[in-house]
Amino acid sequence: MKMTDRMTKEERHRCMAAIKGRDTRPEMTVRKYLFSRGLRYRVNVKKLPGSPDIVLRKYGVVVFVDGCFWHGHKDCKLYRLPLTNVEFWKGKVAKNTARDYVNNVDLELEGWRVIRIWECEIKTKEQREERLERLYKEIISGSPWKKPRKRRKKKIRYYNDYPEDFNIAAEPDFEE
Ligand SMILES: [Zn+2]
Repeated sequence: MKMTDRMTKEERHRCMAAIKGRDTRPEMTVRKYLFSRGLRYRVNVKKLPGSPDIVLRKYGVVVFVDGCFWHGHKDCKLYRLPLTNVEFWKGKVAKNTARDYVNNVDLELEGWRVIRIWECEIKTKEQREERLERLYKEIISGSPWKKPRKRRKKKIRYYNDYPEDFNIAAEPDFEE
């Protein structure tokens, strides 16, 4: 199917941004803000699940800045399906949403705190100021990240390891 001739300018723009998958405008806004608050981070970290947009290792936080359309923001007015090929777009968005979920779980299992920001949360100046301030606080509120400990092999305790008076705690012996 030819996608390009069916999309409005706005849709096409979102599409391109999603394909490039980086350096979208909302993402840059968030990055700049965090930088201005003195935080340092890495961006588009490919070796972590979902290639998080912003990674603050020191705080154990990953931040995603999600486009409302592509990530299927429920009840959001930026999530408007195009009038044509509705099923196609629905399927695409559903896939993205499912993948986001899996990535969240994988990241959390690795010990990361995952913060997702919707594009619509930082649309206007007032929203932006409020949301980004909240984001900053959320990031620095957490304890510094400790690398998850490798699971130690369970030490097998043999009977001989018990102290000699171990039997004291055993059932009383009634047959004197
Ligand atoms: Zn939204």
